[in-house]
Amino acid sequence: MHDFVARTEHRLTRFINERLRQQLYRDRARVEVTHWEAPDEPVSFAEATAQTFAPFEVGTPWGPPWGTVWFHVTGTVPVGWGKEADTRPELHVDLGFAGGGTGFTCEANAWSAQGTLIKALEPMNRYVTLDAGPGESFELFIEAAANPVVPSFNWYQPTPVGDKATAGTDPIYVVNTLEVALLDTGVWELSQDVDALRGLMLVLPAESTRRHQILSALEDMMDAVDPHDLAGTAARGREVLRPALESPAGRSSHVVHATGHAHIDSAWLWPVRETIRKCSRTFSNVIALMDEDPDLTFACSSAQQYEWVRDHYPELFERIREKVAEGRFVPVGGMWVESDTNMPGSEAMVRQFVLGTRFFIDEFGFEPKDVWLPDSFGYSGAMPQIARAAGKDSFLTQKISWNDTNTFPHHTFWWEGIDGSRIFTHFPPSDTYNSHLSAEELARSERQFREKGRATHALVPFGWGDGGGGPTREMMAAARRKADLEGSPKVVVDTPAEFFAAAKAEHGHLDTWTGEMYLEYHRGTYTSQHRTKAGNRRSEHLLREAELWWTTAVVREGATWPKEQFDRLWKQVLLQQFHDILPGSSIAWVHHEAEQHYGAIAAELEELIAEAGRILLGAGETPFVLNARPFADHGVPALGVAAATEPRIAEVASSGDGFTLSNEALLVELDANGLVTRLFDRRAGRDLLPPGQVSNLLQLHRDIPNEWDAWDINSHYKQVTRDLTEVVSIATVPGGVVIERSTGASSITETVTLDEAGLHLDFDIDWHDRQKLLKLTLPFALHAREATSEIQFGHLARPTSVNTSWDAARFETVAHRWLHVSEPGYGVALANSCTYGYDTLRTTDGDGNSVTTVRPSLLRAPMFPDPDADQGHHQLSFLLVPGAEVGDAVEAGYAENLPTRVLAGAHGVDPLVTIDNPAVVVEAVKLAEDGSGDVVVRLYESRGGRAAAVLGVGFEHGPVVATDLLERPLATGTRSPLVGQDRLELRPFEIVTLRIGRA
Ligand SMILES: [Zn+2]
Repeated sequence: MHDFVARTEHRLTRFINERLRQQLYRDRARVEVTHWEAPDEPVSFAEATAQTFAPFEVGTPWGPPWGTVWFHVTGTVPVGWGKEADTRPELHVDLGFAGGGTGFTCEANAWSAQGTLIKALEPMNRYVTLDAGPGESFELFIEAAANPVVPSFNWYQPTPVGDKATAGTDPIYVVNTLEVALLDTGVWELSQDVDALRGLMLVLPAESTRRHQILSALEDMMDAVDPHDLAGTAARGREVLRPALESPAGRSSHVVHATGHAHIDSAWLWPVRETIRKCSRTFSNVIALMDEDPDLTFACSSAQQYEWVRDHYPELFERIREKVAEGRFVPVGGMWVESDTNMPGSEAMVRQFVLGTRFFIDEFGFEPKDVWLPDSFGYSGAMPQIARAAGKDSFLTQKISWNDTNTFPHHTFWWEGIDGSRIFTHFPPSDTYNSHLSAEELARSERQFREKGRATHALVPFGWGDGGGGPTREMMAAARRKADLEGSPKVVVDTPAEFFAAAKAEHGHLDTWTGEMYLEYHRGTYTSQHRTKAGNRRSEHLLREAELWWTTAVVREGATWPKEQFDRLWKQVLLQQFHDILPGSSIAWVHHEAEQHYGAIAAELEELIAEAGRILLGAGETPFVLNARPFADHGVPALGVAAATEPRIAEVASSGDGFTLSNEALLVELDANGLVTRLFDRRAGRDLLPPGQVSNLLQLHRDIPNEWDAWDINSHYKQVTRDLTEVVSIATVPGGVVIERSTGASSITETVTLDEAGLHLDFDIDWHDRQKLLKLTLPFALHAREATSEIQFGHLARPTSVNTSWDAARFETVAHRWLHVSEPGYGVALANSCTYGYDTLRTTDGDGNSVTTVRPSLLRAPMFPDPDADQGHHQLSFLLVPGAEVGDAVEAGYAENLPTRVLAGAHGVDPLVTIDNPAVVVEAVKLAEDGSGDVVVRLYESRGGRAAAVLGVGFEHGPVVATDLLERPLATGTRSPLVGQDRLELRPFEIVTLRIGRA
């Protein structure tokens, strides 16, 4: 037989474009349009519709960047449309949807004249079904958001549109279409048939019989229909395609559990206020589609987004509540937002789950059992334990498929955390959380699925996402046609819980991945937008202090717990840990707002702490020190208030060519340029500087990644380096020296001081470089095989050598409050106040002289998506502790982040709780979430070994109960770390939550 395959495929393409797509609407008619432009920020339906609307012509521009235009649309469904079978009248709208697609361009909400939200209008969802019959009039409002397209052609071109102040004021969109149109449902169904079969055909092997059969069926269909009258002949075409569509899938088919979804970034290329509207648009889309299509299910994470809808769109929220009760609108994740997991601190990571899961329980009586983080930039090794302790049994992501170097070896596996907890984990092998259920995505799911042969089930979240949008009727049509279709994986529309149950049931043996899931990508997110990160770190520690002192004030003095304030402040902090805010990958608007919020949060918490202090200390003039750390400091007990002994600062001597700082522990020599030339540990009798090297060296690297500027550091950054060895000035201060340097664009003031805690390096930087990475270089004469970094509730070790491609890809890593390098018998800790990015490498001269070099990343200055990211003032500080073990590093980390405070009062305050083993660290002291007045103490084993400890409770109390993170008693039959009422036996890195009843 002659080969006409290519020619027939070409014919099909023209048929689809020229005939099928063009005849979806049988007829069109004009509507009347008037409009009103909101002067600035969005307003409510009631406020908008009370305005005077002016005439508007389709084809004219509307909407300055970030502006809102309300269109009032009235019309009549033509009388003649009533006679047509297989049709339905719709409003058909094109607001000028630009490139970038759903969620990345203008979008709108359609409202009924009575103020009910109907659904959204988006590039791939351009209709509103009209409930008016032939001859009947209709009226509705369209709230159109002129959200600009931020990434023009790439992910690096600087753009001013990310801030209202610089985005301009001219209209950026033109309404192309606003009409009433008669959808031909027969042609639409034929179109879905053709799309399903053509898509499948193109992913099948060229030589496969099935592929040829499908092409023949499509050719027969084209012959059977009249291209000039699809309305009249679509049914005939569908009949021709029926056998090809009814041919069933094979018995061993890959099974795709398709769950409707819409990834809505809580802020990113749009501000938080727009996310609130995005939620309303997406969720109203989902509810409208559910009302049309009984099979649709929808998985939706982030309690924050539900709370926004509850507070801003109560009527829509009630409809969501109904669908949740039906089990179709499914809360997943149980977190407040889909947060970053690299940087949120220990207690904050817990609160993501506590506030998130409690919200779902309180509002819906439903407790999600899965963790849903498809898009966060790497996954902390603490997550399995935290998730399990929050009652979760499954974990979902797919982001690791973005790795730039190594392919992750599993899709369904056990993920084991640093403590040995493990959680059932799945990566959708289609590598997307925004599927359209295309044949290509489904084929990819099967092709890449690493467990195939042993397993058949995979999850595919489908629906427009990142900027929201959600599932469409076309996607549901695709799902239906691929439910049991020869050559295609089977598609079953259900929920993540149903997928996890099926996947768990079929697995006999699963591989295990242990420790962090490092994303080999987006390594700049540990450093970009430093002020946002500093605000997060400060807020986390102020919250700890405020909760500790208020709990103490409630128990000791009968004060009233400021619940509203703590809830509100925590929620703001948790929101800003979203995976594009804390990582620094959002537009300027988002980061300016985040910084303002952090300022307000700090002010409110400082006031709360001062108020608790006044209540606790009583009226008096004696200075007392409040120590919120879990370790005693200068005579003040951990978590207590007492008079303190004075810390002793070092002696400073200057000579013609440098300075010497010295105390009992250390001798530090700096040259006239402020570089450390000697670091001598007196107690250990060893020099820490490698021969011929200097420390405290600032290095400025060229930092122009290939793409994704705020997200990425590429490894080539190291190839162009400038050492900042010159000083503008250097002078002594009490305990040390102050050094001023300049990069030409930026000025850097560093204060180096020595005291009993160690060597302090405090930076005050006025930063005006661009596309540069500033690193602090600290070499040590140490043979450290690993660098140990704090993560939530523990730490993990990463190799300092580069053997494998996995090592090579891990060239920038994250640490919380400290990093520790050691060889047996000796180590050094570097604590920080707000720095997360590090590279740590061991090198040698070849003769066995090892040098371990620790290099924190101080600042970057990417220019996309915020062209002025990181410009301006920054403060950073480090504490270098020679001769430190891991326990000392833990202590230094708390010290650097929880400075003691001095307040005047009448008396000190005994701690509410004491722990007699320094390996066991108190992370939080608070009142129970349920308002019972019980005291909740969260602690953990901090060194990675087993630890026994005695809990001392310093107040009249009832029973002590070990609970999960949600403060519920541990399930019977599970091991309790609490032995009796006051003895604790902790496993390595174990998190323990104790609930202490008040007498
Ligand atoms: Zn995202």
